[in-house]
Amino acid sequence: LMHLTRRLIEIRSMLLSIDKSDALRLPSIVVIGSQSSGKSSVLEAIVGHEFLPKGSNMVTRRPIELTLINTPAKDGKEPEVYGEFPALGLGKISDFSRIQRTLTDLNLAVPSTEAVSDDPIDLRIYSPHVPDLTLIDLPGYIQISSADQPETLKEKIAALCDKYIQEPNIILAVCAADVDLANSTALNASKRVDRLGSRTIGVITKMDLVPPEQGVQILSGEQYPLELGYVGVVCKPPGKQDRTESTAQLAQQTERDYFRSHREFASNSSLMVSTDRLKKLLIKVLESSMASSLHGITNAVQLELEDAQYQFKVQYNDRRITAESYFAETTDLLKARFKEFATQFRKPQIRAKLREMLDVRVMEVLETLYWSDKRTTTELTALADDPKVKPNSVDLNWRRKLEAASSLVTKSGVGRDSTQLIAGGIHALMDSIVSGEPFTYHPRAAKSLVQFSHTILRERVGVTLDQVENCIKPYKYEVEVNEREWEIGRTEAVKLFENEIKMCVDKLKEIASKVGGGRRLSNLVSYVKMLEESDREKKARMLKGDAASEAPVDEYRYPPAQILDARRAMLFSERLNILKLRLGALKSKRCRAGPENDAICPEVFLSVVADKLAYTAAMFIDIELLDHFLREFPHVIDSRYSFDSKDIAEFARENPRIREHLNLQERKDKLEEAMKQLNSLATLRPDIKERTPQR
Ligand code: GDP
Repeated sequence: LMHLTRRLIEIRSMLLSIDKSDALRLPSIVVIGSQSSGKSSVLEAIVGHEFLPKGSNMVTRRPIELTLINTPAKDGKEPEVYGEFPALGLGKISDFSRIQRTLTDLNLAVPSTEAVSDDPIDLRIYSPHVPDLTLIDLPGYIQISSADQPETLKEKIAALCDKYIQEPNIILAVCAADVDLANSTALNASKRVDRLGSRTIGVITKMDLVPPEQGVQILSGEQYPLELGYVGVVCKPPGKQDRTESTAQLAQQTERDYFRSHREFASNSSLMVSTDRLKKLLIKVLESSMASSLHGITNAVQLELEDAQYQFKVQYNDRRITAESYFAETTDLLKARFKEFATQFRKPQIRAKLREMLDVRVMEVLETLYWSDKRTTTELTALADDPKVKPNSVDLNWRRKLEAASSLVTKSGVGRDSTQLIAGGIHALMDSIVSGEPFTYHPRAAKSLVQFSHTILRERVGVTLDQVENCIKPYKYEVEVNEREWEIGRTEAVKLFENEIKMCVDKLKEIASKVGGGRRLSNLVSYVKMLEESDREKKARMLKGDAASEAPVDEYRYPPAQILDARRAMLFSERLNILKLRLGALKSKRCRAGPENDAICPEVFLSVVADKLAYTAAMFIDIELLDHFLREFPHVIDSRYSFDSKDIAEFARENPRIREHLNLQERKDKLEEAMKQLNSLATLRPDIKERTPQR
């Protein structure tokens, strides 16, 4: 039957890892006792090693779930003795003082404001000298809170113990022989939950401190009868100076000698004394308690399993996933998005983007150099329609203006601006690739992807803009235009102007509807013109020193916001007039004739310049920046993301949808495994049922 306890202990830890709900609990032995009752000494005597935290102030702040696993000798060789903290991943620890230190650290990590925590520490000990047992060590009861302990500490410890001494757990109530049982906090607590004492074992420590007759009296259990009885022990730990390998044996020997040397114990076989006896009792009690829980636990697990299976079917249609498959899926998605992204950054697309940027610049230059000059609308526009003027006889002024305009466009930092425009576009697209599902769940991965792309770009931007600037250098001195280029440039310029005209018309409509209609807008405009007129007159008079006052214009006839709108409308219509005039010129015979008319048709010439700049810049940005980026980035996805399996599991669990799926799947798997194990124990059941808890 050792086999049964062992396997149920395994099933118990499996169930504990699923959830800590009481329904799934198999019985364990819970050790309670007042501080200094000798609780630690008893536990260490059972394990045969000193491993529990020691210290003057309370050091057990968290329950210790102690699982003892008997490892039988193999091929006549003594197996290794070691401990393990499964949750910490520290591996096998064969140095018990290291286990002691680890336990102390874990206990001290509980914030002092919290004082005690109900999060248990899982510790397993493998040894040929221990029986298969599960014991839970709890903080010792304290009588009075000392100055540096919070008021509620006493209550907190009591509450924690109360939680653990519930059914089906077996209670090991540790009491010192030299303290009256009536004062034993442990016994009193156990009596509250186990009135008949059917699952409580009394352990009387420090038997050597009372006269043997008194010891016998306590063990007889007359004062507080317990069905499972009392066991008397002496486990006085040897002094620090002789802490050697054989400490355990020494202590055992001391105990044995004590009980042998006193006739009272030696002659009364009905009394239970010694740690050995205690061990045997624990094994027996746990075994039968486990056995009687078997039926209940099997049913509970079966119900849990059915529920998990049903949920898995309904929610996921029995589809299994792994963290790896999710990771691969995400990486594929990333690559697909990137591929799609790359199509937005082919040469023609870049060229169009750069062209747009340069068109804005051309318009700005035209505005400052030409449109602000009244002669543009009159003289220059007239030239386009004058058949008598020969291209080379055009006023030198217009030629100089054209040169200035061209140089304003070519020397405006095209290399820097165009490179940054495209790099900015890549940044924005990278941001959009990693925003949205599923990357919203993986902020760390998304951030590092963006960082990688920034790094690649940063390395290339400087080189690229220098290259672009270098290659457009010739255009800063001279731009040669052939017939074909001229006609293309003219068509582009016409399109651009038509667009601008449409934009101005739309703006004017928008303003009109905002102020309440076209009529209202023209009233507003006339009013503003009148205001401006009167302003001018006032200034003129003041200059002449004529201060004669005159009826003021009613400045508050319209709300200020509408006056502003009217002024904006005036600017737009002024611009609209110029655009229309120049569009006419662009369509004239002369502008159509060819590049020799560049001074008369600056818009066409500048359009050709913009086109040449965009073409050259696009070519070098493509070679120096994009090609590089598009080649590097997929490597980044493949290499930098070669996570190990732990990273991948973590990554997958960042996505709540995947996390829930994995959780349910794991829960179902574990329950299935537990059920399988429980079913394999079924053959033992007839035998088990006959067994009842006994001494
Ligand atoms: P805990 O606070 O309940 O864990 O108690 P400990 O195991 O730390 O023991 C408290 C004190 O009692 C220590 O000084 C031990 O040396 C001492 N002690 C424990 N068991 C015995 C025993 O069987 N006999 C004697 N004389 N002293 C003991």
